[in-house]
Amino acid sequence: MHDAADGTRALEQRTIAAHRAYLDALIVLERIAHAATCPKCAPTEFADVAPTQAHSTADAHKEVCRTAFRDLLGQLGHIPRELTAALPKGEAWCTKQATNIE
Ligand SMILES: [Zn+2]
Repeated sequence: MHDAADGTRALEQRTIAAHRAYLDALIVLERIAHAATCPKCAPTEFADVAPTQAHSTADAHKEVCRTAFRDLLGQLGHIPRELTAALPKGEAWCTKQATNIE
């Protein structure tokens, strides 16, 4: 048998997971946006799919993740304390250029 606290805890865990998925989707979108204009990344990033197709697919996925996170947060009614995931600080999107500096 589940009590109210168990239900809230489960909803918090689902909200935290949805937040992480949303952040991951944003990171993918940023990487694609970078690769679209980077001569070193574009050839490998877009070997199988056109940049516009890759971007619209990633953008659609990001919207699904954003909506899921927003809906769970609305259901929960508060921001979980564990919701501390953050974007990497100062990380260069182009590791190819970053490692080639001499
Ligand atoms: Zn690059």
